[in-house]
Amino acid sequence: MLIGVGKGCALTAPEASVTLAVRFFKRMRAVDLIRKKRDSGELSREEINFLVSGYTRGEIPDYQMAAWLMAVWIRGMDRSELTALTEVMLYSGEVLNHSEIPGKKVDKHSTGGIGDKTSLILAPIVAAGGLTVPMISGRGLGHTGGTLDKLEAIPGFNVNLSLNEFRRVLRECGMGLIGQTAEIAPADKKIYALRDVTSTVENIGLICASIMSKKLAEGIDALVLDVKTGSGAFMKKETDSIRLAEVMVDTGKRMGKKVVALITDMDQPLGRMAGHSNEVAESIEVLKGRGPADLRELSLELSAWMFYLGERTKSVEEGRHLAETMIVGGQGLEKLRQGIRLQGGDERVIDEPERLPIARLNFHVTSSAAGFVTGTNCEQFGIALAMLGGGREKKEDLIDHGVGLEFHKRIGDRVEKGEPLATIHFNSDAKLAEAKALIAVSYIIGENAPQEKRPLVRRIIGA
Ligand code: URA
Repeated sequence: MLIGVGKGCALTAPEASVTLAVRFFKRMRAVDLIRKKRDSGELSREEINFLVSGYTRGEIPDYQMAAWLMAVWIRGMDRSELTALTEVMLYSGEVLNHSEIPGKKVDKHSTGGIGDKTSLILAPIVAAGGLTVPMISGRGLGHTGGTLDKLEAIPGFNVNLSLNEFRRVLRECGMGLIGQTAEIAPADKKIYALRDVTSTVENIGLICASIMSKKLAEGIDALVLDVKTGSGAFMKKETDSIRLAEVMVDTGKRMGKKVVALITDMDQPLGRMAGHSNEVAESIEVLKGRGPADLRELSLELSAWMFYLGERTKSVEEGRHLAETMIVGGQGLEKLRQGIRLQGGDERVIDEPERLPIARLNFHVTSSAAGFVTGTNCEQFGIALAMLGGGREKKEDLIDHGVGLEFHKRIGDRVEKGEPLATIHFNSDAKLAEAKALIAVSYIIGENAPQEKRPLVRRIIGA
């Protein structure tokens, strides 16, 4: 009896039953799934689950996950794979429920950039304004800095709270800032660290799954996404940033959350500082009513949307007014002080920022020509900072929180020959020459000032 017909061959019953049994009992193997994606295949939810769960449990090694991530980076994922990856990563750990805490829970997440420190400013503003902010953040990724590494510049600050400690801190002060843990978004914790050192960051599907899996695990009602665009962002082209924003907004809305994405400028650093200690200090300055205008502006805008989506205010304008009030009245600053204390940090850094680790040495990068700053190759600033010890080349590398960059010129500014463009704060001169050369060529100097003034917020998706 013929029961199976293959390409040009007929099988007898015993042969066919052996073939079927082999197919049926064939164990899933990571190597086959890597090959499938390498050859542009579409993975099923079960296959994605096998890879992600196996990797999270430590059964699939780094090198196989890295190979699969690179295959995804090159071949991409379709919508059903992306949904499966996000959900598998989300349910790799607990999905929190804070119903015992009254009121709305909101958060913000940025896709990452240079000098992007708004989380340290808006979390206390929004918590002081009456909403709860249960924030799960990441470490530095690729050329961009990470909130967790910045918080760890504060002596004693603990980003590894247990779930119970996290809940206690949230109940007490309305905000908590932690990393992915073995309990919450453990798959992202491991995959994120691997992507950082395998050049597999800049991919819409992987970014969406990473961000949305940890944000949806937070137990929030609403989420504001800050999707960066420009030379310092993962998405350099605005069209790609819009696509990323749309996919993330759609993913969040399907899960019943209020989500909005602001496409914001990352063609130059945000604020004047990039690093860890110096970004904490600059954030404190903004909460004291000072600090650079662009950083203050974006922090207020994102806070305003959080207030609005969290139904604390009836409009974004009203939200903005409330955010300003939290700065002017000092409630935002006091909330940050309380948050630092509750997470074991030295709250004295608020009044004495010199308590933060500071690099011993400075070097000024000067302009080789007179003219106007017409643009920056912003990503290179992040690479230079990482070279100085402010980023990781390998997963186990330690961050030097004291090193940093201070930018003196912004796009449109006049600059004279020999005038400082940026100051490097460093501890070891091993990579100084390379870093300063990179910074010098990353400022683009032209004869004329650029005509167009680029808005900080380019557009809003999902409002
Ligand atoms: N932020 C994240 O949390 N994940 C990414 O992949 C990129 C930015």
